[in-house]
Amino acid sequence: MLHTYNLQPRRPSWGIRAEARKAESTGHAIVIAPPPREVAISLNQSAGRPAVPIVEPGEKVSTGQPVARATAPGSADIHASISGLVVAVEERLVFSAHHSMETAIVIRGDGTDEDFTPHPVANDPMSMTPAEIRQTIAGAGIVGLGGAMFPTAEKLSCGARIHALILNGVECEPYISCDEVLLRYRAARVLRGAQILMRAAGTQRCIVAVETDMPEARVAVHEALETLNDDRIDVSQVTAKYPSGGERQVLELITGRQVPSGGLPQDIGYLCQNVGTAAAVADFFATGRPLISRIVTVTGQGVSRPVNIEARIGTPIAELIAMAGGYRGTPAKLIAGGPMMGIALPDDGIPISKANNCIIAAAPGELMETAAEHQPELPCIRCSECLQACPAGLQPQELLVACRQQDRQALESLGLPDCLECGCCDYVCPSAIPLTARFSLAKIGFRQAQLEERRALHARQRFEAREARLQQQAVQREHELQEQSAGVVSDSQIDAVMARVARDKNADTEKP
Ligand code: SF4
Ligand code: SF4
Repeated sequence: MLHTYNLQPRRPSWGIRAEARKAESTGHAIVIAPPPREVAISLNQSAGRPAVPIVEPGEKVSTGQPVARATAPGSADIHASISGLVVAVEERLVFSAHHSMETAIVIRGDGTDEDFTPHPVANDPMSMTPAEIRQTIAGAGIVGLGGAMFPTAEKLSCGARIHALILNGVECEPYISCDEVLLRYRAARVLRGAQILMRAAGTQRCIVAVETDMPEARVAVHEALETLNDDRIDVSQVTAKYPSGGERQVLELITGRQVPSGGLPQDIGYLCQNVGTAAAVADFFATGRPLISRIVTVTGQGVSRPVNIEARIGTPIAELIAMAGGYRGTPAKLIAGGPMMGIALPDDGIPISKANNCIIAAAPGELMETAAEHQPELPCIRCSECLQACPAGLQPQELLVACRQQDRQALESLGLPDCLECGCCDYVCPSAIPLTARFSLAKIGFRQAQLEERRALHARQRFEAREARLQQQAVQREHELQEQSAGVVSDSQIDAVMARVARDKNADTEKP
């Protein structure tokens, strides 16, 4: 099959236009935060199960030293982000969708930032096999920095034939600019990472996706490409429209192909990685330092000097706010992520994780509101605005009916699991129906029902297996009884009796 790519922007019919609000934080170069006095590193730094700690309170650790190991597929290793003393491995309030208490390794810094030696990597990745590169990346604890935190090495080991690597630099949410500044100031690193990832994935093609409203980033990538002189890599522009930065959406805009429902980009021959992930891979092979920091946009009218900060994982958000000039007035809301899909934070003592791309301190009235936030809900008028806006090609008004009727079958056939919870339908709905909240709840119920069904199935299979075993034993016993009553003695039974007689005889002979 011939693969073609749209290098010029294609205007998506779905999505919404939101004011970008990125200029405030892109006005300065990336600020590198000094190692903080203390970090609290959550063990939940990947898409899979939490890692298992391998250090104890009282132990001294160096920067980059492994402190927790991956436990299962989807899980990733974790490393000390500063050097110092492990003072606790305890439950802490960490960044997550539910603000849950999770186990974190707390390290008090010694101020030396002494590197862990020996470095686990010092090889030229181009002289390594793809499998060796993947293994090395896994040891660096590198996960997708776009927010999903899926282990990069695992994604590269998908086993599918990959036509092209798509490096996603599209930040469609307003305010978030960490990928834009990365491309502006560190484009060469991103492209070096692209070359390593291409080798690891066994592909000879890479498309770097940037938004149409990132001209400086685009120029920086083109200049870096000229220096690199690698004609396997191209740049594609994607129309700045929310949510064109989603993995499936960016892929559709560049290749014209859709990922099947419930599938992954690799199912149609593409591998998507965030530009930050590519830079992390390049950094690791250049310096030997695993993933211990990331770029975080700290912005909003509630901070004095919006900026992008490269911060160590586990740094309290309050320290990043201080680096952005501190609060300006009292912010109305503190959000981790963008204003559309971000999570409201209860306070600024929460430490950042590998998933944190943005912190917004929003002033009162600053954020765009949906109609549902200030109007009473009205009946659906079947205007189809939500259908037009939906980037997943769903029919939100039909999903709403199925939600109200709690019709699981209809929800499934209407594609509820494909809902991104992007909020576009809420923004266009003239009846102020909080559609996304309803769909989020329905998805939770859907997952729970699936889990219960799976559990019930396992219980039934176990019960049936036990019944079959008991039945088989009963048949066998019955058979033996019948043989005994008919006087039929098997060879093995005769052998057993002969052996017992011989044993008894020997015992008699040995008696004094
Ligand atoms: S929240 Fe779901 S249904 Fe609504 S527009 Fe986004 S993907 Fe479509
Ligand atoms: S946008 Fe709102 S009112 Fe219009 S069809 Fe969708 S749910 Fe109904």
